[in-house]
Amino acid sequence: MPIATVNPANGETLKTYEAMGEEEVERRIRLAEATFRTYRTTTFAERARLLVRAAELLEEDQADIGAVMTTEMGKPVKQARAEAAKCAKSMRWYAEHAEGLLADEEPAEHDVKDSGGSRALVRYRPLGPVLAVMPWNFPLWQVIRFAAPALMAGNVGLLKHASNVPQTALYLEDLFHRAGFPEGCFQTLLIGSGAVDEILRDERVRAATLTGSEPAGRAVASTAGEMIKKTVLELGGSDPYIVMPSADIDRAAKIAVTARVQNNGQSCIAAKRFIVHTDVYDAFAERFVAGMKALTVGDPMDEGTDVGPLSSEQGRSDLEELVDDAKRSGAAVLCGGERPDREGWWYPPTVLAGIDREMRIHREEAFGPVATLYRADSLEDAVLIANDTPFGLSSNVWTRDDAEVDRFVRDLEAGGIFFNGMTASHPAFPFGGVKRSGYGRELSGHGIREFCNITTVWHG
Ligand code: NAP
Repeated sequence: MPIATVNPANGETLKTYEAMGEEEVERRIRLAEATFRTYRTTTFAERARLLVRAAELLEEDQADIGAVMTTEMGKPVKQARAEAAKCAKSMRWYAEHAEGLLADEEPAEHDVKDSGGSRALVRYRPLGPVLAVMPWNFPLWQVIRFAAPALMAGNVGLLKHASNVPQTALYLEDLFHRAGFPEGCFQTLLIGSGAVDEILRDERVRAATLTGSEPAGRAVASTAGEMIKKTVLELGGSDPYIVMPSADIDRAAKIAVTARVQNNGQSCIAAKRFIVHTDVYDAFAERFVAGMKALTVGDPMDEGTDVGPLSSEQGRSDLEELVDDAKRSGAAVLCGGERPDREGWWYPPTVLAGIDREMRIHREEAFGPVATLYRADSLEDAVLIANDTPFGLSSNVWTRDDAEVDRFVRDLEAGGIFFNGMTASHPAFPFGGVKRSGYGRELSGHGIREFCNITTVWHG
């Protein structure tokens, strides 16, 4: 895949980049390691000052970097600006909370005595250079949600961003540089995915985090496993959105539309499978389909646009194949379902019903504005359908019944369960999945501790 900015709204190649050669990559890894030796000794207060400065700069740049993101991957520009604002907020959150989240822990006095010691504590120390392999769909947020905690913990970052967002990738390096972080704290490696393996094998690179597809996760995790290096994997999702009879159906249907089409439908935590209790199925389906039909699809640079193009030609054909397979196997198309005849990689908001287990779309992730509707006879049936997927990232449930809430919390196989609202990440809450959605957590105290050396300090 060439490293290039290609406008998905019309397929025009706007800028191409030469991949960095081996010598340049070596220079940058050496710099990362050298910088880490001193950066790790800085105080939380110093790191926080730099991170807050980066947040201020990002807030100033919101409109410009928002337009760059929209040009590179097609998200509506108002969503791109909101992404930049969310990044700045999360940077401030980690600047404020990191010291507390990584404070020394003291074991109970009786346990210290029992170990034969006089004093003991647990300290969270940084690991070193961490490689971050990141996707294009939230080109700022995915990176910041790694970088903010990593830098606050005293680690340094090496970013291998997706090949279709090189300008955003270079912007990020520049942002941390302008904020005053020492050179080498955060570097962008303009490289293709074929160059990742060798970097992972480099002893100076201590750990890796990957957000992206299952094949990419498997490749990075196997090499890291061979090298005995810590990884965090944030992979795909096919989140259920369950609607029970006690739900506010109008609201559930309205939020369902946003939950499915946010980011042009290309979000790992988008609701993808809508599982509706038979008592409210028709009422929900009618409102949901009407909402999907009413969306404004158009130029992502327009403020009024709800849904823009998909990010790449490949992404569009992958999605189209899933829909066509379902149609051939008898799924009903309630809206959309045909690509429009225009330049760029467009696909309309689509709702499919009558899904069965044999259809590819039941088991695979639909990465675009395509929803599948399921009818559930009972709570048990809803849980069965919800868990009948290789993924387990997040989930959404609409109910006002407390007994049902308990059952769903007990039984849904997912890293998040959001009631009466849609899944959204927040710096204070852990984010990540189970099953083939990956392992490890980002955000919150859990996220910042993933790339720490949890050190026992004991005194006799
Ligand atoms: P992708 O093709 O896996 O790309 C993600 C990153 O991995 C890119 O930087 C890519 O580089 C790199 N990559 C690809 N193959 C690799 C390999 N064999 N070895 C090393 N690196 C490799 O995924 P995508 O299409 O950009 O993103 C969509 C996927 O990401 C979806 O499945 C989505 O659900 C998932 N996602 C998950 C989360 C989460 O938090 N769980 C968040 C967002 C997205 P190139 O661009 O150079 O190929």
